[in-house]
Amino acid sequence: MLVIMKRDATDEQISSVIASIESLGYQAHSIPGATRTAIGVTGNNGPIGREVLESLPGVIQAIRVTRPYKLVSREVKPEDTVIEVGGVRIGGPELVLIAGPCSVESRAQIMQSAAFARAAGARILRGGAFKPRTSPYAFQGLGEAALKLLAEARQETGLPVVSEVLDSESIELARKYVDMLQIGARNMQNYVLLKQAARTMKPILLKRGPAATLEELLNAAEYILAEGNYQVVLCERGIRGFSDFARNTLDLTIVPVVKELSHLPIITDPSHGTGKRNLVIPLALASVAVGADGLIIEMHPDPDHAFSDGYQSLYPQQLSTLAREMEQIAPVVGRGFAVRPAG
Ligand code: PEP
Ligand code: MN
Repeated sequence: MLVIMKRDATDEQISSVIASIESLGYQAHSIPGATRTAIGVTGNNGPIGREVLESLPGVIQAIRVTRPYKLVSREVKPEDTVIEVGGVRIGGPELVLIAGPCSVESRAQIMQSAAFARAAGARILRGGAFKPRTSPYAFQGLGEAALKLLAEARQETGLPVVSEVLDSESIELARKYVDMLQIGARNMQNYVLLKQAARTMKPILLKRGPAATLEELLNAAEYILAEGNYQVVLCERGIRGFSDFARNTLDLTIVPVVKELSHLPIITDPSHGTGKRNLVIPLALASVAVGADGLIIEMHPDPDHAFSDGYQSLYPQQLSTLAREMEQIAPVVGRGFAVRPAG
């Protein structure tokens, strides 16, 4: 259910509608918009009587939300949501390039990566501290030591940082050091983890599971918003298909469809989406062309010796090439992107 307030509804009226919703045993989510405030109602198992809500002062209408996800839906919030990550805005007119190595490996490696990323035009640094690897014998990440290095790299370059969390322990550690928590593809439907990450109130980068439908992705995001954390950036990172030429199939079709159905920003990850270095730039540019709000790209100072995902990591020079090409394509689709050192 969505309660639409009148344009001139007062703060007192809004608070009193929220209190009424809560007194009925439901949760209320105030969603301020450009012209009016809407209040999302969740926690109900069946339909709620519209008449009760429509009789409250300041309410113009109560509408039933037809989709299984509600707070992420455009029905509830027509305007695009812009998420702020350490001062960088994702989902606004400017495209956002997130770049860095798959894993943090050493101080030298992450510092070099951060310097390259910044110089190329990236606005946010990525780096894995806790790695969900297919093989239990593969490099699992440096854990808290990596988080400390990320914080140091932020200090050095001014770039906010994003890193993946896997469980409650990594959430508790990561929240102290990073600006944005990443929920990886393998955990998209780990609802306990989603709720726990949401409660940190940090922005969340939610990656689509390799076999998740659009509806499952939006419902996963809904778990986070339902906790009262509205800062979610969706990420298409490739799905399982029958491709015998790429690690995954980057499902670019989902980008314009998400834009229709949801107000949340969506970026793509052509690194995991293709699994091949030579495919990353073409698919990154295609992502910009279909309306993605940004990109997350794996880049390594020495990809041939990377501890993880080296074969899909760009050489630093390639990141600069990508950024310059993004700068060309962005205005064609009404977006901005400027290659200039941040800050
Ligand atoms: C990653 O970002 O390094 C990663 C493991 O991504 P995904 O969860 O999309 O596989
Ligand atoms: Mn990786």
